[in-house]
Amino acid sequence: MKPKVMIQENQRFTKTRRALLEVLKNRHLTFKELYEELSKAGFKNVSTLYNNLDFFIKNNMVIEINLDGTKYYDLGIDNPYHQHDSHLHMVIKDPQTNESVIREIDYPEIYESIFSHPVFKHYEIEYIRILVSAKKKEKHQSY
Ligand SMILES: [Zn+2]
Repeated sequence: MKPKVMIQENQRFTKTRRALLEVLKNRHLTFKELYEELSKAGFKNVSTLYNNLDFFIKNNMVIEINLDGTKYYDLGIDNPYHQHDSHLHMVIKDPQTNESVIREIDYPEIYESIFSHPVFKHYEIEYIRILVSAKKKEKHQSY
């Protein structure tokens, strides 16, 4: 599958960078997971991965999400649910396995209501990142 990432004409993209963006599509991965995925594809140089991640973060193409001290990486571009400057994530914890899944929430109204709040009138908002922690309700409560 070819990456659908928007590439500016004069911007040079190495294979590793391309692979990195492809692997992050629709997923939120830790550095370790990211490395494991890229290793499978033949990219095994950790420092190259660090450098490329750093490049993407500085250019707002990849976002860091800090979840209970663990960093997850997320695409800030080409993402139908958010721009690099506005993220609403829900972390769903499985009480049985203690594992967490991060989901994108499509809710643009929430950003509009924050932007229009009088307290921000004299400020330029850099970004909004909201992390909602949740767990599935008991069966009898759901519908
Ligand atoms: Zn995200």
